[in-house]
Amino acid sequence: MTNITPGMVCAHHHLYSSLARGMPAPRGKTDSFISILENIWWRIDAALDLDMIYWSAALGAAEALSSGTTCIIDHHESPHAIEGSLATIAKACRDVGVRVNASYGVTDRWDNAGNIHSSVDASTKMTSGARRGLDEGLAFIKSGGRGMIGVHAAFTCGDETLHEAASLAESLGVGVHVHVAEGLDDVDAGSRLERIAKENWLLIHAVHLDRQLLGSIVHNPRSNMNNSVGYAKPSTRTNNILLGTDGIGANMMEEARLAYVRLREFDVSQDPTVVDQWLQNNYQYFPEAKNDKVTWSYYNMSSPWHTAFTTDMHVLSVEVDGEKLYEEGKFMRMDIQEIRAKANEQAQRLFERLES
Ligand SMILES: [Zn+2]
Repeated sequence: MTNITPGMVCAHHHLYSSLARGMPAPRGKTDSFISILENIWWRIDAALDLDMIYWSAALGAAEALSSGTTCIIDHHESPHAIEGSLATIAKACRDVGVRVNASYGVTDRWDNAGNIHSSVDASTKMTSGARRGLDEGLAFIKSGGRGMIGVHAAFTCGDETLHEAASLAESLGVGVHVHVAEGLDDVDAGSRLERIAKENWLLIHAVHLDRQLLGSIVHNPRSNMNNSVGYAKPSTRTNNILLGTDGIGANMMEEARLAYVRLREFDVSQDPTVVDQWLQNNYQYFPEAKNDKVTWSYYNMSSPWHTAFTTDMHVLSVEVDGEKLYEEGKFMRMDIQEIRAKANEQAQRLFERLES
């Protein structure tokens, strides 16, 4: 019995979404996968500037740390604040004390005049926004940043952009971090990516993926349920499976418990060790998190059979690289009250932009 675990890893996050909570009600419909993207997320990401990105990431990183998560694989988009966005996220995470692997999600859904494309297909030429997004990923990694080349999703990119992203990632020795068949609108992702995907790619969601693709699949059960996109059935895939939150916090024990009951609803013969293995697979991206030390209020942390059914547990303290960075509500590097106040200020700015 132990109340200590390594640091947890979130394999797919959107730190920019920390400010979205409590946003004004969207004006348009949000009754489908595509309308949720169009009327919530693509409006939010278009309104972001670097100040919002910094405080959103700082808040997300602080909330990760206090839930025992010391490493985040982030996927970012801010079409009107591309240059410097990844360094801004990395700085916010560093200031709090959380490690991040950052990527800029390129897309052709904004045309060269800055308007949203009514339709993007395989023949769509690479837009200047996509080019700048690839350049941002390149600049971040070349300057020593830990990152991947990000792609929003096949259905918002032409083939030219997908192929450029794949070859840039290969030339940098990193994988591509891409949403794959999250909703039926992206059901062609399998055929579009089949010939270019590599083993080091992160395939996010894969709910409607219709074939085998090379790469690890990141399962995000809470987000999938929230967006009503369907169940990804990760236990039926032969890919390496990782666990992420898709921007709804970074509490991995919570996400694992949810992943477990959703798995059981699908197949009652499955057991908690299956989900525990997904959490363990996350360390492939941040092996050093195993040296971090999270102390919990609960004493059976080494048993997935216990943690899957224990909803009342919380983090007492977190050490990263031997340095205590969180203890009983107190953050050592940054004042959480300041982070919350600044994030709230930036959220108000964001909401005003969304309403203007
Ligand atoms: Zn996502």
